Amino acid sequence: MKNKKIKELVDKAAAEANLSKKEIIYLLEQDFSKLDYLIKKADQKRKELFGDEVHLRAIIEISSYCKQNCHYCGLRKDNSELERYQLEKEEIITAANQAAELGYKTIVIQSGEDDYPAQKIAEIIREIKHNNDIAVTLSLGERDFGVYKLWKEAGADRYLLKHETADKKLYQKYHPGMSFENRIESLKYLKYLGYQTGSGVIIGLPGQNAETLAEDLSLLKELDVDMVGSGPFIPHQNTPLKNSRQGTLEMTLKFNALSRLLLQLTHIPATTALGTIDDFGRQKALQAGANVVMPNVTDSKYRRKYEIYPAKICIEEQAADCRQCIGGIINSLGRFVSTERGDSRKIKTG
Ligand code: SAH
Repeated sequence: MKNKKIKELVDKAAAEANLSKKEIIYLLEQDFSKLDYLIKKADQKRKELFGDEVHLRAIIEISSYCKQNCHYCGLRKDNSELERYQLEKEEIITAANQAAELGYKTIVIQSGEDDYPAQKIAEIIREIKHNNDIAVTLSLGERDFGVYKLWKEAGADRYLLKHETADKKLYQKYHPGMSFENRIESLKYLKYLGYQTGSGVIIGLPGQNAETLAEDLSLLKELDVDMVGSGPFIPHQNTPLKNSRQGTLEMTLKFNALSRLLLQLTHIPATTALGTIDDFGRQKALQAGANVVMPNVTDSKYRRKYEIYPAKICIEEQAADCRQCIGGIINSLGRFVSTERGDSRKIKTG
């Protein structure tokens, strides 16, 4: 009986890209061992809409300074044990050029909330876009709305700003001094400016439940995001959540699979955090609806200092190693690395 209901709901999600909150909660609360059909359908949907192509986004972590104090994140201001660094303009441009040489078609410039000078970022974007035919994604946290506009005009293509959790109370609790409304307004404004937007969720934050995750999915639908990145919560020893339980592989895969069925044309990365809690986490996500991987290309002398969570994989590697390793992983699944930029499939062309 139960399995019949699961099948019915999964078929409905795949056909209509829609489920009620109650139906989503029902699926999220099922034991993972009963959800083979959900995972299979998400994989099929990925293949039907995107084929076997996997897009790579090269991440350059430009600064580990942060003025915020997010309860889960190792970069939080009060973590005095973290050695901070900030890349110079020339280092960022060199890293981007190297990524382009390695064949990456997208770079993601990421940092803590550092207030890196906005004009300098604009110059960096202009120079990278001038030198290379690649998409530039920014993941620099919340800034003044005028700054988002300045960077768009400088040529940035995409902005990644995870909403982290749709439960406003939980959001306020874990992000002291920040505002849920401002995060959502930022995402809406970024979209309005013409950025392809990415958002996402931390799976397994203490206090989160299936109902919260169902709300996350409906918020993501409402925001009409172009990418959804969701990874498991990994406790960091120098944060208030150090003793909390880690997010699970199973819940992350359920959420990714439901994201594929309910958000259909949205890009979904197999996250590094999932690869950190499970040796085959990224492979499993790629077989549960994901079509993107985001390898690190930060110079290895800085990687250790960008410790969002502990035991992050690929800390010792150089950019070229990661490109090779990821290529191998993707090929081992019978998939291939795209040679395209992998722009949003939601954008109407022609
Ligand atoms: N300052 C930027 C980038 C933050 S780091 C911003 O605010 O958007 C990128 C992502 O790492 C965050 O969005 C968060 O979802 C994730 N992250 C941070 N700490 C984590 C942890 N302990 N476990 C899992 N993911 C974490």
